[in-house]
Amino acid sequence: MFDSLQERLGSVFDKLKRRGALSEADVTAALREVRVALLEADVALPVVKDFVEKVKVEAVGQNVLKSVTPGQMVIKIVNDQLAAMLGADHVGLNLQVTPPAVIMMVGLQGSGKTTSTAKISKRLTEKERKKVLMASLDVRRPAAQEQLRVLGEQIAVRTLNIVPGEQPVAIAKRAVQTAALEGFDVVMLDTAGRLAIDEELMAEVAAVRDAAKPAETLLVADAMTGQDAVNVADTFNQKVGLTGIVMTRMDGDARGGATLSMRAVTGCPIKLMGVGEKLDELEDFHPSRVASRILG
Ligand code: GDP
Repeated sequence: MFDSLQERLGSVFDKLKRRGALSEADVTAALREVRVALLEADVALPVVKDFVEKVKVEAVGQNVLKSVTPGQMVIKIVNDQLAAMLGADHVGLNLQVTPPAVIMMVGLQGSGKTTSTAKISKRLTEKERKKVLMASLDVRRPAAQEQLRVLGEQIAVRTLNIVPGEQPVAIAKRAVQTAALEGFDVVMLDTAGRLAIDEELMAEVAAVRDAAKPAETLLVADAMTGQDAVNVADTFNQKVGLTGIVMTRMDGDARGGATLSMRAVTGCPIKLMGVGEKLDELEDFHPSRVASRILG
């Protein structure tokens, strides 16, 4: 991931590093190349414009042209602005509520929602010693509830027993009640996905939200789907309100635009990232580390 962006920025920076003094024209030319590199990586246009503007303002403010190492300074500014665009600091899951804390997972079908539900449950169980109950609310895809049950067995996490014909809101309520009665700390609700956003999906997710009052509403977004992922996140955020994003397939060869635009467009932090198909391939999302990775 980020390969071609990394390569493009690397060559811009090599040029900058090789020069002792820099003129204003040099900086302008470098920033033009940075702009093209970000656009080619599929970063949203308003985000790119804002980014380049901020780098310019910083470069003037820090008096880069008069510095002894102007090239290094420009690189540092780009690095800092990249991290800021991704959200500056890591934001973790907020489970500081009266238990059970409900985590509602939303997103399109195939984004990695069920896998991420299991990954988060595994991590909360093993690393944070939480008692987790998982429930699938996907009543449309017959295999979905069964898929979560099988994953639950693999990671030794309880799943709510399946009642044929029960509807999503009723399942969510039963999951929360069961968790409260049996002393679970966390309830993971894996909501249904669709191939595209539609009114019915949004109404269903909103109804589940109202019934289950989640502490976290996490959108699962596939990094490989580029700006579509950002549009999906924007819509979910407007219609149901998100508290965070889980970016999946960060192990793939995505150009990176979705990851880079997500925070700026939606205002929501990317909290976690999926880095493989295995159930322990989940990592905290650290903006500064991702920025450093892009800049090599
Ligand atoms: P859902 O329809 O949104 O619930 O999607 P699934 O959880 O069933 O995932 C769809 C496919 O994506 C499965 O084959 C997963 O193994 C795979 N997958 C999920 N997350 C990741 C990830 O972070 N990296 C990779 N490489 N594959 C993933």
